[in-house]
Amino acid sequence: MNQPVRHGAMRARNLALVLGEIAGGGPLTRAALAELTGLTKTTVSSLVADLLSAGLVAQAPAARGGERGRPGVEVRLSGEHVAALGLEVNVDYLAACLVDLTGAVRARRTVRADNRASRPEPVLAALDRLAGETLAGVPSLRVAGAVLAVPGTVGERRVHHAPHLGWRNVETADIAARLSVAPVAVENEANLAALGELEFGAAPRDFLYVSGEIGVGAGLVRDGGLLRGSSGLAGELGHVVVTDGGPACRCGSRGCLEVYAGRGSLPDPASLAADDPRAAAACRRAGRALGLALSSAVNLLDPGTIVLGGCYVPLFPWLAPAVEAVLDERLGALRPAPPALVPAVTGPDAAVLGAAGQVLRRVLADPASLA
Ligand SMILES: [Zn+2]
Repeated sequence: MNQPVRHGAMRARNLALVLGEIAGGGPLTRAALAELTGLTKTTVSSLVADLLSAGLVAQAPAARGGERGRPGVEVRLSGEHVAALGLEVNVDYLAACLVDLTGAVRARRTVRADNRASRPEPVLAALDRLAGETLAGVPSLRVAGAVLAVPGTVGERRVHHAPHLGWRNVETADIAARLSVAPVAVENEANLAALGELEFGAAPRDFLYVSGEIGVGAGLVRDGGLLRGSSGLAGELGHVVVTDGGPACRCGSRGCLEVYAGRGSLPDPASLAADDPRAAAACRRAGRALGLALSSAVNLLDPGTIVLGGCYVPLFPWLAPAVEAVLDERLGALRPAPPALVPAVTGPDAAVLGAAGQVLRRVLADPASLA
């Protein structure tokens, strides 16, 4: 049947409206959906039929009876057909995570890999193999797309610079062409980790997420959305200078936070003994540097909470006292109290979860692309 274009646009909008209500407040009956959306029951039934056949929703008998004593049928998001792939290239590992439409993690894999000073081609080939192995475990799921997290500055069309990987001006299109899933978008690792903590963790709607990896990055979430800056490059907390004339950093500057508080300057949490004085001293030094950089960030941005992620999660008991002491000392006179400092609950999966979450958001905003 030939539908005028205008009708197609309206259908797309209504599909998103109905799916949005189901995602936000489901399971719901068709009658409840009609009431919530203001659409007629006939229109809702037709839209739900399309969402059912696209595998985006499923139906089940309602716990309570429906109108006029008949058992109601409720519609909810389906976790059985459509999924999103989160991918990550980091300095010393690759990761993939498959999340279904209900937000449940269906498969995840991480492999250690030395990606320092690498060329993108072999790294992306290894990542593509990892993605294939991850998807093979759940063949019934159709992948709606992937988002790739990289530890560097990412613009609209390219990775500008990932200093530890040694990648400069790598086009997103070239990255996408080397991966078997489509479509692929690329985003900064700390930004995605912040979104992962927002959507899959316990973070409030206003917080500064700090990602402690080999590099240190940050993502600022304000009122549930990411603050990206004028060119998408906000949050480079790792390159905030904490010591004028300090040691050289890979970014070309000196005395950056990353030199003191990157994973390379911290003890391995797996082998950290609570009574090891050298490990404790390294954590105190890193904690003080982190406290200094965060004091500036708090003065500038006023986040409600600071969430420490990545390798800072297992090291939190050793780092937090030093960070908090500096925040108290530097911020105490200006405000009633410094922001709360908490460890991330999503742990090392924050970025891949956030990446998959971006694909899910896109599916919910535009179900017509699949239905
Ligand atoms: Zn730097």
